[in-house]
Amino acid sequence: MKNKLITVFFLINTLFLTSCSQKSEYTNNFFTMDTPMSITASGAYAKEAVTEAVLYINKLDGLFSKTLAQSEISMANERTGSAFSFSPTVFALIKKSVEYSNATEGAFDVTLGEITDLWNIKAKNPNIPSEEQINNALKKAGYKNIIADGNSVLFKTPCSLDMGGIVKGYAADGAKKILNDHNIKSGIINLGGNIYAKGKKADGSLWKIGIRDPRSNNENDIIGYVSLEDMAVVTSGDYQRYFEKEGVRYHHIIDPKTGYPSKSDIISSTIICSSSTMADAYSTAVFVMGKEKGIEFCKKNNIDYVLITKDKEVLVSDNIKNSFTFEGKEKGYTYEN
Ligand code: AMP
Ligand code: MG
Repeated sequence: MKNKLITVFFLINTLFLTSCSQKSEYTNNFFTMDTPMSITASGAYAKEAVTEAVLYINKLDGLFSKTLAQSEISMANERTGSAFSFSPTVFALIKKSVEYSNATEGAFDVTLGEITDLWNIKAKNPNIPSEEQINNALKKAGYKNIIADGNSVLFKTPCSLDMGGIVKGYAADGAKKILNDHNIKSGIINLGGNIYAKGKKADGSLWKIGIRDPRSNNENDIIGYVSLEDMAVVTSGDYQRYFEKEGVRYHHIIDPKTGYPSKSDIISSTIICSSSTMADAYSTAVFVMGKEKGIEFCKKNNIDYVLITKDKEVLVSDNIKNSFTFEGKEKGYTYEN
């Protein structure tokens, strides 16, 4: 299973700066939400800021995890078919998720819990579910079957929530706020490839965020990078979690219409915008939409993207072409500026 996504130039830089023992810079590498993560900040209160942000993300995992029996999501999933009261944080993200589901006409859908359980991509020996199992699970899915109102969510059918497509983006936005509260001007939040680049690097230059080569086993191989500041960069790819059977790749991004891993012509979809929560939901959605619909959606909503197709074509939105540096030619990728 591949669990890492964007290769990050800044890591090299971070390590370098740390080894120069800049006292104001602090990094914490940690593991939560089933994902290796790291946060680096520069400033007088860097350590306090990073420590608080890590605690916050761990707390979110306790609320949203589908595998922790005591999480609010697990408890709600046990009792669907009626209304369930959530804490304000969980409720707010469910509500946001429904908004993104509407905006993406269901390409992003947080009610796929039963289907992702069936596929169980993270298992040691995952199996392909039967068509009957998928059809039964599909009947219970559908964002239109949940109504978020007040602080409770009404489940019109006994559907099951899976917030895995948005919670890391939400966590990055929360971590960014904590860094702001500690007056951090420069930092980098990397929650398993959900990146938020805060300000500029400590040396005053822009952050360079690498876009991973989706067909290389080496997580340091990139097809290019974007240079930016104060932006979220979030990638969804078919290489992040998958298994193969008889030459077919079964990955973790589900097409809500079919219940099967999306047969998209995109293999990596990166969204760049100021909200990490939105970037997370839309990177998943644009992957499912595929090249044509995905680009149309991004253009309509003024969303920046770096997409990689099955044909190894790299497509970048006009607005960020000047910030994108292509390095994929030798690896067989094509890019028309
Ligand atoms: P991401 O890596 O952000 O694209 O999210 C993929 C994760 O979100 C999967 O591991 C599932 O937990 C969940 N998921 C899969 N397909 C979808 C979908 N179409 N909409 C929303 N969440 C999804
Ligand atoms: Mg996502």
